[in-house]
Amino acid sequence: MAHDDQTGMIGNITLALNFDNSYARDLPQACVPWRAQAAPRPRELFWNEALASVLDTDLAAWGRAQREAVFGGVEVPDGAQPVAQAYAGHQFGGFSPQLGDGRALLLGELIDRHGQRVDLAFKGSGRTPFARGGDGKAAVGPMLREVLIGEALHALGIPSTRALAVVATGEWVPRDHALPGAILTRVGHSHLRIGTFQYFAARGDQAGLQRLLDYAVQRHRPAAACFEQAQGDAALALLMAVLQRQARLVAQWMGVGFIHGVMNTDNMSLSGQSIDFGPCAFMEVHDPSTVYSSIDQHGRYAYGRQPAIAQWNLARLAEALLPVMQGSEEQRLEAASGVIDTFDAVFDEAMAAVWRLKLGWPDQAEGPAVRRWAQDWQALLQAHRVDHTQGWRGLVDAAQGRPQGLLQHFGEGAGADAAQRWLEGWQAHATSAGWSIDINTLKAANPAVIPRNHQVELALQAASDDGDLQAFHALLDAVRRPCSEDPALLPYTQAAPPEVAAAHRTFCGT
Ligand code: AMP
Ligand code: MG
Repeated sequence: MAHDDQTGMIGNITLALNFDNSYARDLPQACVPWRAQAAPRPRELFWNEALASVLDTDLAAWGRAQREAVFGGVEVPDGAQPVAQAYAGHQFGGFSPQLGDGRALLLGELIDRHGQRVDLAFKGSGRTPFARGGDGKAAVGPMLREVLIGEALHALGIPSTRALAVVATGEWVPRDHALPGAILTRVGHSHLRIGTFQYFAARGDQAGLQRLLDYAVQRHRPAAACFEQAQGDAALALLMAVLQRQARLVAQWMGVGFIHGVMNTDNMSLSGQSIDFGPCAFMEVHDPSTVYSSIDQHGRYAYGRQPAIAQWNLARLAEALLPVMQGSEEQRLEAASGVIDTFDAVFDEAMAAVWRLKLGWPDQAEGPAVRRWAQDWQALLQAHRVDHTQGWRGLVDAAQGRPQGLLQHFGEGAGADAAQRWLEGWQAHATSAGWSIDINTLKAANPAVIPRNHQVELALQAASDDGDLQAFHALLDAVRRPCSEDPALLPYTQAAPPEVAAAHRTFCGT
């Protein structure tokens, strides 16, 4: 299609969207104006039509040529003001005062059809001033992984950044061996991270920290109750709000066996959305010590450690916010630690809300009973090496008088007997409390389909090695319907054979 540089048009469509770039405008100290490196031969691999139509009707009307031009980094759409964002962060516990978008760019903030502000951001769009030793590039496989994980989490009702587009660049990216390159465009409520606050705190930049605080409060407004509890201290209110969002998020991850894999403070968003999917994976056999990431050698980010790590990260946010809190140094410290100490209670309540649904019990079911029954079930899954997803989903059939399929996962003898006893007790508890187990709640809270690691690998490998996107699209379709009972999805509900599952490792893909 013809492109005219003078008019900013491709064909007869103007590349303009409803941008309003508040971050670039309000926080110039926290970013660098930058441009994506144009893909030499952009070719669209994925386009999120459903997301585009929620965002912007003009965007949804763009043809492939427009999309490849913009999301391949060739054209900057009118109104966009791309910047590389600065941030710091604790990576695996060690602090780096300057990380930043080394291979990412905030293209601009779009005001969507509902008047909501969202970030459109690239990943893999070339080196920036924050690139350090990196090449600024991303490979097709890891970018398509971001699509699958984001869409899966979203379909599961878990807050997540989502992929809008993946465009192959037509370049080779040198890794262990050369891989085809790609640019991901993702959409999120913002890209403010704990590490964004750490960036200013590490520089002792009090004025910058205050501007960031004002900005963050404006953009991710804490609930009125937080302001009240914080007696008007905006920093404290923000800390409370972020703590609540992240506690809820991690509780939801735990419910579906999701392991983020790199819960560094630069990968934890203030909005409470899941962000930055590197070596993440859904757990198969239920085991709290599960780690899939090849770079997490000490199990810092294992499944069962995620709540504790979230709290640790929030303590780092509290430290960064201390200079802009109110009161004497002693009062600030006390107030901030007071908030961090609430994490366990907030998390326990959020977790109980997740388990309550997974048990099919109603709102009246009390936290302690919910926790005890859920924990006992998980202990059985762990003791008998049962798949997390199948172990929970099996409750749907069991509640309808068909426990056999589920019991098979527990082997012969003692395992099946113990599971049978738990099932009877779970149902008896509901009956004696005067409720019934709600089958629709069970079905909605216990997905049948998750992006299984072996299937993700197969799909990404075919896409990366052979340019064959069939398996990717089939898997994407499946993970977008996690609770469906469509028999066609059966292959996506099966666990990997044990020898395949045991060998699974994910790589950061940087
Ligand atoms: P991540 O592990 O993707 O969250 O990235 C951690 C930090 O490393 C961020 O500052 C990234 O921008 C940077 N980074 C990762 N990969 C690359 C790359 N290929 N080129 C430049 N910077 C990178
Ligand atoms: Mg990151």
